[in-house]
Amino acid sequence: MSTIEQFDNAVMHTYGRLPIVLETGADRITTDENGDSFLDFGSGIGTNSLGYCNEAWADAVCEQVRKLQHTSNYFYTKVQSDFANRLCQITGYKRVFFGNSGAEANECAIKLARKYSFDKYGKGRHTIITLKNSFHGRTLCTLSATGQDSFHDFFFPFVEGFTYAEANNIDDLKAKLDDTVCAVMIEYVQGEGGVNPLESAYVDELYKLCGEKDVLVIADEVQTGVGRTGTFLAGEQYAKRADITTLAKGIAGGLPMGVCLANEKCMDVLGKGTHGSTFGGNPVACAGAMVVLDTVGQPDFLASVLAKGAHIRAALQQCEEVAEITGLGMMLGIRLKTKSAPDVLNEALRQGLLVLTAKEKIRLLPPLNITEAELDAGLSILKKCLTA
Ligand SMILES: *Cc1c(COP(=O)(O)O)cnc(C)c1O
Repeated sequence: MSTIEQFDNAVMHTYGRLPIVLETGADRITTDENGDSFLDFGSGIGTNSLGYCNEAWADAVCEQVRKLQHTSNYFYTKVQSDFANRLCQITGYKRVFFGNSGAEANECAIKLARKYSFDKYGKGRHTIITLKNSFHGRTLCTLSATGQDSFHDFFFPFVEGFTYAEANNIDDLKAKLDDTVCAVMIEYVQGEGGVNPLESAYVDELYKLCGEKDVLVIADEVQTGVGRTGTFLAGEQYAKRADITTLAKGIAGGLPMGVCLANEKCMDVLGKGTHGSTFGGNPVACAGAMVVLDTVGQPDFLASVLAKGAHIRAALQQCEEVAEITGLGMMLGIRLKTKSAPDVLNEALRQGLLVLTAKEKIRLLPPLNITEAELDAGLSILKKCLTA
């Protein structure tokens, strides 16, 4: 039996997988069990921010795993403390809660927002407005938060208390901001929804309205955060810091970690016994994440992400087939004129390049430390696929 047959024998068929068995990775290249290599413009959906098996990252992870691989959260560890302090320093937030995924980070944000409101105003002010076409995760609560009808099937009953407003439509938001609302949750750039950035004027107005009513703003930066858009948080490009921000995908360089960051107003809302996670803040994940922070947190590095993003845009804009390029930094969506995104993805794969799709677009999330030469090699393959 082939690996794929054995795999399908034992693992639930919840994903539309490509027929490739990846075995090893080094920097921006991954190799399958037949020895075929692929340049990766997807980073495992934005998780491998420093590419595959980055040397400094792997050293830190291996050293930690030989020292102390895990301890319950009934104890303190220095590695978790160092990482949390550094993350607060870089982002300007006051407190961190650790989970293991984007969905868990968002669950924490939702619980925090509801408790903030309950503590201050009592029952009944629990509604969270999210945006249509958003994506916030796969747990029951984060599915409920996700503003796409296609995610609201099968698993009834869903979690109550979510309403969905149209992105970039301030009147719709105003109409839905009633006295039951405790928070508005946004992605500055909707990732899974098709790499659609919010308009600055809309974000300005949204913050203003929320500020007037003491409604919290939650920024789901699970995909946009940790340098992906060319600033450490995408919110910086809107000159905004949400009351609560969640991070996950790229934060630990490919190890599971999700964090929920709270500002001064929200820092003490979740007290002893109100939230938890067995694996949250795992020392090995923290050791890897520290290397990501030390690298991605540097202004020069962030500037290089912006420059490489601009380079990708300039190269692809020349393609006749490209209708539109959306996104920020190295989080890009490419709308095509005549070709289908899955066809282009498969053609790129045949030519040794991994890309992603988001709705009807090609989506690129290259490793943040990709070199210009690698970028050009990948772009030349992609351009060939778009012209063929
Ligand atoms: C991927 C993603 C999530 C879910 O993260 P998981 O780690 O899969 O739970 C949530 N929000 C956004 C914006 C995402 O891109």
